[in-house]
Amino acid sequence: MKDTLEFLYQAAPARVVFGAGSLQHLEREISLLGAQRALVLSTPGHRAGAEAIIARLGQRGAGLFDRAVMHVPIETARAAREMARACHADCAIAFGGGSTIGLGKAIALESDIPILAIPTTYAGSEMTPIYGVTEDGIKRTGSDQRVRPKAVIYDPELTVSLPVGLSVTSGINAIAHAAEGLYASNANPIMSLMAEEGIGALARGLPGIHAAPDSIAARGDAMYGAWLCGTVLGNVGMALHHKLCHTLGGSFNLPHAETHTVVLPHALAFNAAAAPEAMRRIARALGTDSAAGGVYDLALRHGAPTSLAELGMTPADLDRAADIASANPYWNPRPVTRAALRELLQDAFDGRRPA
Ligand code: NAD
Repeated sequence: MKDTLEFLYQAAPARVVFGAGSLQHLEREISLLGAQRALVLSTPGHRAGAEAIIARLGQRGAGLFDRAVMHVPIETARAAREMARACHADCAIAFGGGSTIGLGKAIALESDIPILAIPTTYAGSEMTPIYGVTEDGIKRTGSDQRVRPKAVIYDPELTVSLPVGLSVTSGINAIAHAAEGLYASNANPIMSLMAEEGIGALARGLPGIHAAPDSIAARGDAMYGAWLCGTVLGNVGMALHHKLCHTLGGSFNLPHAETHTVVLPHALAFNAAAAPEAMRRIARALGTDSAAGGVYDLALRHGAPTSLAELGMTPADLDRAADIASANPYWNPRPVTRAALRELLQDAFDGRRPA
């Protein structure tokens, strides 16, 4: 760590409409995009909410594409693009979590259609220029400012239906963005402020949701935290934790938010000695004396999984996971060796509370 401040800060454009009931501003936001006809995107399971959006849009509702799934298969992206073209849509509304917003990004990547996101989980994709498309079983990811949604409506009322279990893991997924942002190689003071504020808001919101899932105040805290943490993800680089979760999700088909929840305490314990200031700020935001222990306890107390074994990994998978995750070098505050990574994976597999 240098003694004097030195950083590059590039503000990314973001129009955010936040608040309980803010879905009421949807028509205004579509007009401000200069658009007339919106294609609404959702997962099959979230179709009812998407239908309600189409109904309120009246003439402006061009169509509903309800086939968003995890990892954006290229065939799904092509079908959605084709539907957008066929129904003369001039904007797309991504209503849902990271999977649906990912589909919106895949549409924006190959057309001039602006995306308006209405996030209903805490994953944070709406604040990033990062996209991913899966073709022949391989997920190709990239970064392109064209895919970043032009406007985002955060309405906590739309997250009341998110099951408590997924709310907690999705919230810890958001905390992971902020935690790694605090020790990023290109960290900057503004993103670090957002990161600490974001973790603090989620540390308030998640227990509140666990106690009362329909509390709009708790849902608002969690969503505010998710926005901030997503902004951090979109502005500074990530490290070991995100790399490891990407490997586990892609190679072992583990669920996204749950995997982040299980791995984060162990990734933080691994990096603790190399990033003491980041750990101090994470712990302060969580209201604990240990960043790694604090995240572990947040998960455990609120019924989230704490071991990779619970997610369906087998002991035999751990060596292969260590091989894949250590194959390509990447930046991390503490250099990563295969042996240390294998140990980390064992701890995460067993669900041991970090010391
Ligand atoms: P998701 O979008 O897959 O949603 C999980 C499930 O929850 C789905 O079945 C969905 O229908 C349901 N759901 C969503 N909101 C709901 C609500 N309010 N009520 C009831 N059910 C609801 O999960 P996710 O964790 O949001 O996103 C994961 C995906 O996003 C991964 O593929 C990940 O790679 C990607 N992601 C990308 C970025 C990025 O910057 N590109 C960032 C974060 C996540």
